[in-house]
This record gives sequence, structure tokens and C-alpha cells, in this order.
Amino acid sequence: MRFKPFFFALSMCCLPLSVMAADDFHTIEYTPPEIDYDVIGRMWDFVKLSTHAPSDLPPPRLVLDWHVPPFARMGFQYPTEQFPSYQMQISIAPRTIEQYSKEMVSWGVGHELVHYAFILRENHWQRGQATFQDQLKHHCNPEFKQITRAIADEIWKIYHSDTQRAAMYDEVEKSCFNEPNQ
Ligand SMILES: [Zn+2]
Repeated sequence: MRFKPFFFALSMCCLPLSVMAADDFHTIEYTPPEIDYDVIGRMWDFVKLSTHAPSDLPPPRLVLDWHVPPFARMGFQYPTEQFPSYQMQISIAPRTIEQYSKEMVSWGVGHELVHYAFILRENHWQRGQATFQDQLKHHCNPEFKQITRAIADEIWKIYHSDTQRAAMYDEVEKSCFNEPNQ
């Protein structure tokens, strides 16, 4: 097991506990997740260009989250009128990083970044709102599909894996087919 539940406690709740125990954390061995931040940074620039986002728009938080439901690998969440307490962030299930290739994890984060950009664009790029409108559906939207396919091409330019790219193209169609309302 690469990840331990304490990381979750540290990042998501129990702040007084983590402050109290802060000194102890120096002695806990922890392997950082194998997330390719360099590639994700490139994908973020690509998503900003593709969606005509302001060039200084910051990306959302990226959080390892043990609460991601078993059927999902990662997700983008944000506060809405119905769920005002949601944090705006990309949550990644730790098992996803264990089970999927680096390419596929990077592509998945790219897919969530497009959700983020689409939500912010729908809300006129106003990041500081308490809640966000989300009337548009993304997964079958031709622009959303085109950008997430193009992210697969961008990742291909780095790793040159035809198999991985085909799997990503497949995911584009699967998201539309399986979750057309998202
Ligand atoms: Zn999605």
C-alpha cells in the first residue's frame, strides 16, 4: 500500500489533531503519489487555450480522496445551490493511481480540468462565488469531446503510446454513453 489513511485525515478533516501531531509527521514514511505534475501543468495550459480561459486562471486543488465512490476513479466537485458545502477541487481516489498508467491518470486529470474550465466559463470566469451554476451538460457536448480527445493527442506527443491513446478515445465515448447528464 503506497497510501495510508492518515494522509486523508491530514488533508480533509481533523485539523486540530494534525496540528497537535505535526511533529510526529516527520517520522512517518510517505511515498508521494506518482502524479506527473509537469504533464498536468502542460494539460492545464492546453485546456486554458482551448476554452479561451484567462491565461492567469489558477487550476483547482488536486486532492487524494478516500471518499471517491468505488465506481469512480476521480471527480471534479464544486459548490452548487443544492450542495453549497462542496469544495471546488479535483478528487482522485488513491486506488486510481495504483491501478492506472501515468498516461491515463494524467488524461483523467485533464478531463476533470475541462469540467472545471467549462463550469467557470458558464459562470463568466468568476472563481470567488459561493455557488456555481451548472446548466450545461458536458460529456456529450461536441466541444468537450473534442478537447478531451485533443488532450489524448497531447499526451501521445509525450509518451507515444498508441494503445493508451486508443483507451483515452474510448473513455471519451464511454463518458458520453454512460454519464450523458454530467
Ligand atoms: Zn467527466
